[in-house]
Amino acid sequence: MSFNSLGLSEALLKAVSKQGYTAPSPIQQKAIPLILEGKDVLASAQTGTGKTAGFTLPILQKLSQGQQLRKRPIRALVLTPTRELAAQVHNNVKAYSEFLDIRSAVIFGGVNQKPQVATIRNGVDILIATPGRLLDLQNQGVLSLAKIEILVLDEADRMLDMGFLKDIKKIINLIPTRRQNLLFSATFSKEIKNLANEFLHHPVLVEATPENSTVDAIEQKVYRVAKEKKTDLIIKLISDGNWKQVLVFTRTKHGANRLCKKMVSSGITASAIHGNKSQGARTKALAGFKNNSVRVLVATDIAARGLDIPLLPHVINFELPNISEDYVHRIGRTGRAGASGEAISLVSADETTYLRDIEKLMGLKIPVDILEGFEPDPNASTAPKKQGQGGGRNQQRAYKPKPQSSRRSDEAGNSGNNKNAGRNRNRNRNRNRR
Ligand code: AMP
Repeated sequence: MSFNSLGLSEALLKAVSKQGYTAPSPIQQKAIPLILEGKDVLASAQTGTGKTAGFTLPILQKLSQGQQLRKRPIRALVLTPTRELAAQVHNNVKAYSEFLDIRSAVIFGGVNQKPQVATIRNGVDILIATPGRLLDLQNQGVLSLAKIEILVLDEADRMLDMGFLKDIKKIINLIPTRRQNLLFSATFSKEIKNLANEFLHHPVLVEATPENSTVDAIEQKVYRVAKEKKTDLIIKLISDGNWKQVLVFTRTKHGANRLCKKMVSSGITASAIHGNKSQGARTKALAGFKNNSVRVLVATDIAARGLDIPLLPHVINFELPNISEDYVHRIGRTGRAGASGEAISLVSADETTYLRDIEKLMGLKIPVDILEGFEPDPNASTAPKKQGQGGGRNQQRAYKPKPQSSRRSDEAGNSGNNKNAGRNRNRNRNRNRR
């Protein structure tokens, strides 16, 4: 099946093809036509299935049809449990609406509200928000939810886990009763079913299991290796495989620079791309990578976001990300829709917990290999290494956990006290490590 048969406009098809997607994922095939028809949808889909495009594309199509009102009221609202997810959804919205006259904004707690308020005052068609900050701004009279036509609850199970049910109910009471509802959740617990029964109107059930996720086409592999042998191993893999276009992820800007230098001194052309690089340097690095004069692009997660590079044969995680969802986004850069792709992760003992969290999120085990001469250190501790050596993402996403009684703290990733708290504790453990 192709995107063309889903009833999406030319502008959206152009944006989708710019992302390098050639075929819709199963959840997209099922959800997009239903959402375009105006149906309420209850979808079981987790990260990695392409769910974000599954609801964003049809929403953008609906919002761009007909005349835009001069004073743009918020017409679509996407609620997410965390600011990371809110930012990711917003990045998707921006990418897919590139050729449309659509304004979007993202709001979440833990940062100064002024820039968010200024953007909203200019008028936005689609708003992505975490519940607490949304209610805050609504209480302050900064925004109105009276013209919402479409409501999305993304990762609804996580929102309930984090104790957002009351806020969600408050928000729903502020928006018109005649609206389209889309609820996305990795699991269908009793609580999710109750929520769906309460707020959705004759929803159509759509399921996308991890087996048919977009990451399925990607061959994933882990090399267990001693930390100090990672650089030699990555150089060996790239040289022996004669790989030409390799995107490498490091966790910090310094790590990216260091690795880049070592590669260059081993005769592999490489450029680093991260937050400390000027726009000019980034553009140059990207252009070199695209025209094959640079074999390796070493990037941090934030710098890689929004990079316009289609289909890469090889993605290497020099270090695993401490946020599991980032792994899915990293490897999503390869093996897209039919094209073969390989995602390799070099994992040292102290990254064992990250690996487990990633496998848990994706519901699969990644095959592990050990290369002779690059064996893991049997005496190395499996305790995660202390974070905070000044990586770009650390600076941009750092937050101080607040007491549990504070709802705002939930938006930054703290869990509520409930029976699913174990899962959140994992996430929080990751975040607190940064
Ligand atoms: P999501 O499940 O929405 O978090 O998306 C997971 C990854 O799949 C992201 O990196 C998307 O850019 C990518 N993706 C979404 N739709 C497609 C598609 N139709 N083909 C290939 N990759 C996709």
